[in-house]
Amino acid sequence: MTDHTERDAMTYDVIIVGAGPAGLCAGMYAGRGMLKTLIIERGLPGGELLNTEKIEDYIGFESILGRDLAEKMANHALKFGAEIITDTVDAVERTADGDFTVTTALEKVFRAPAVIITAGGTPTKLGVPGEAEYAGKGVSYCAVCDGAFFRGETIAVVGGGDAAVEEADYLTRYAEKVYIVHRRDRLRASPIIQERAFKNPKIEFVWNKVVEAIEGDERGTQSLRLTDTVTGDESSLAVTGCFIFIGFTPNTGMIRGHYEHDAQGYVVTDTHMRTSIPGLFAAGDLRVQLTRQITTAVGDATTAAIAVEKYLTERREHSKVQAAAGAT
Ligand SMILES: Cc1cc2nc3c(=O)[nH]c(=O)nc-3n(C[C@H](O)[C@H](O)[C@H](O)COP(=O)(O)OP(=O)(O)OC[C@H]3O[C@@H](n4cnc5c(N)ncnc54)[C@H](O)[C@@H]3O)c2cc1C
Repeated sequence: MTDHTERDAMTYDVIIVGAGPAGLCAGMYAGRGMLKTLIIERGLPGGELLNTEKIEDYIGFESILGRDLAEKMANHALKFGAEIITDTVDAVERTADGDFTVTTALEKVFRAPAVIITAGGTPTKLGVPGEAEYAGKGVSYCAVCDGAFFRGETIAVVGGGDAAVEEADYLTRYAEKVYIVHRRDRLRASPIIQERAFKNPKIEFVWNKVVEAIEGDERGTQSLRLTDTVTGDESSLAVTGCFIFIGFTPNTGMIRGHYEHDAQGYVVTDTHMRTSIPGLFAAGDLRVQLTRQITTAVGDATTAAIAVEKYLTERREHSKVQAAAGAT
């Protein structure tokens, strides 16, 4: 049985799901705003920063290791009183009284009137040998983040949708040559994006090929082993980079009840980071937006934390008015 003290210990002003840049920044602002704040993270604090070797585009830090930035962000959130626990959030559910219950894999149930979901997303992996081994050593899932490391090199982009073709076009500002490796003989990307890529002299298409393995040595990625989907022939493509754009799944499985999202499952918010469920806010990579970077994640998180403060104040005032009306 849960007694009163235990119940209070499980109740917060705001619960944040995920401790990537968005979650930690939201935690820092909420803590600083004197809200009782809980961040629940299934792994180590830092999110995708922990999968990033060097970051060169976070303003104020010309170059910083991902793990160092993660540590600084986590310490900053803790300094202002946010609590961080390790657990996986299984369900976020709005109850009849308008509060939320947050249920975890360790079977804990936390309560709060507001929740900020900052659970990020997962890039779809090829699932081939060498992909994990050379991640950060030539294998990447983010052109804006890593493109500048491939100046003058020959690289490959895997995929045939809008993201793959747009990112290939973007990467030609750094790379000498970009192969687009696609398993079919035509692209899924929209016509205008295709047209731009076909006109780009630095892009060459490698049709009807699937990647069987990413190969390399101590220098990093050196080639892709390919199989022709029509003839079954094997070949090797010499590249020092392999950007994989075959999909990205926002981590939204824990949200119970209907919420507005786009066709790819990204959460729709307004400019206050409010979702279509009252009291539920979203920030960072899982939100519908033009680009997904550390700067955009922390920008969203700042807005979300301040919007939560306003939401809680308005909710308290509304309850007072209702109580006063009930008393008369
Ligand atoms: C390889 C790589 C390199 C990158 N390089 C750069 C770069 O150089 N510069 C740049 O600006 N951006 C870069 N990015 C993008 C940047 O990392 C993301 O935009 C940013 O991390 C998004 O922050 P976020 O907090 O929204 O999500 P994330 O960083 O993905 O954090 C989400 C967190 O939520 C946790 N979580 C998920 N589900 C649950 C659950 N059910 N319960 C509890 N916790 C959960 C995850 O474990 C994770 O820690 C890179 C991305 C990748 C993949």
